[in-house]
Amino acid sequence: MATIRQTESVRRSRGVEQLVAGRATSDGAGVKLTRVLSQGLQHRLDPFLMLDAFGSDDAQDYIAGFPDHPHRGFETVTYMLAGRMRHRDSAGHEGLLENGGVQWMTAARGVIHSEIPEQEAGRMEGFQLWLNLPARDKMNAPWYRDFAAAELPRFTTDAGVEATVIAGESHGVAGAVTREATAPLYLDLHLPPGGRFAQPLPAGHNAFLYVYRGEASVAGTAVPAQRMAILANDPEADGVLIEAAGAAGTRALLIAGQPLREPIVQYGPFVMNSEQEIYRALGDYREGRLA
Ligand code: MN
Repeated sequence: MATIRQTESVRRSRGVEQLVAGRATSDGAGVKLTRVLSQGLQHRLDPFLMLDAFGSDDAQDYIAGFPDHPHRGFETVTYMLAGRMRHRDSAGHEGLLENGGVQWMTAARGVIHSEIPEQEAGRMEGFQLWLNLPARDKMNAPWYRDFAAAELPRFTTDAGVEATVIAGESHGVAGAVTREATAPLYLDLHLPPGGRFAQPLPAGHNAFLYVYRGEASVAGTAVPAQRMAILANDPEADGVLIEAAGAAGTRALLIAGQPLREPIVQYGPFVMNSEQEIYRALGDYREGRLA
C-alpha cells in the first residue's frame, strides 16, 4: 500500500447540516438493517437514493438473504466488511462478495437478481448504496463487476489515515469505478486516534459522512458512530476536513456526487423519472420483459 503525503488541502471545511440516525427495518426475506438514507432525503442527497447499513453476529438477522427481485433505473453498490454473499442475476453475472469486497451493479433497463449468504454463523456487516442513473442511461444494458478487497485502490497518508477508493478519485488515486454523469466519490476511511483527513469537494456536489466506528469531528460538530452527517453545500467551502475523535480511532464512509436534478419517481425497486415509466417497469416485470 503506497504511503502518500497529505497532498490535498482544504482551506475551509463544509459544516454539518444535519445528523441522521436512520431507521431500523428489514428487507428481502427478512434481513435486519438500518436505512440510513431513506426516500425523504433523495432530493437533498441527489444522486444518491438509499444507503442501508447491515451488521449482525446473529444468523437469524441475515440468513434468509435477498431472493430473486428486480431493479430498474439505477446502480447498486454493495460493500461487504465481513461475511460472504453470493450474487446471481438474469444478465448471467455471478459473484461471491466477501470481506472487504465491493459489488457494483448497474441495473439500468433491468435485472432480476438474488443475494444469498454463504455462511450459517458469524458476523455479516456491510453497506448497500443506491446511485441514480441519468434519464438518458436508465434503459441501457445492465453492467456488473465485483472487486475483491485486494483489487480495490488504497493508500495511506503520512498522517496514518488508510483510505480505500471505491469510486472517484482522492489524493491522486483513481477509484475502482468512475461515472461521468454523477461523478461519485466513495471512500472508506480509517483514521488513527487524532488523525485528520482532507478531501476537496466541488461546492455543488452533495456529500455525506457515515461513521461506523468511533466518532468523528467535522468543523467542530461531533459525529457519533452509526450517524450520517449531511455536509452543507457552503459555496465558501472547498471540501471537508474530517478528524478522528476519541481514543480508538474512527472508521467512516465519505460519499459525494454531482446531482442530476431530474425528477425522481420510486416504486420499490424501480427508480425512474415519471409515473408512466414506473407503470411500464411494472408491466415489463409482470410480463417477463424486464430482464
Ligand atoms: Mn437487490
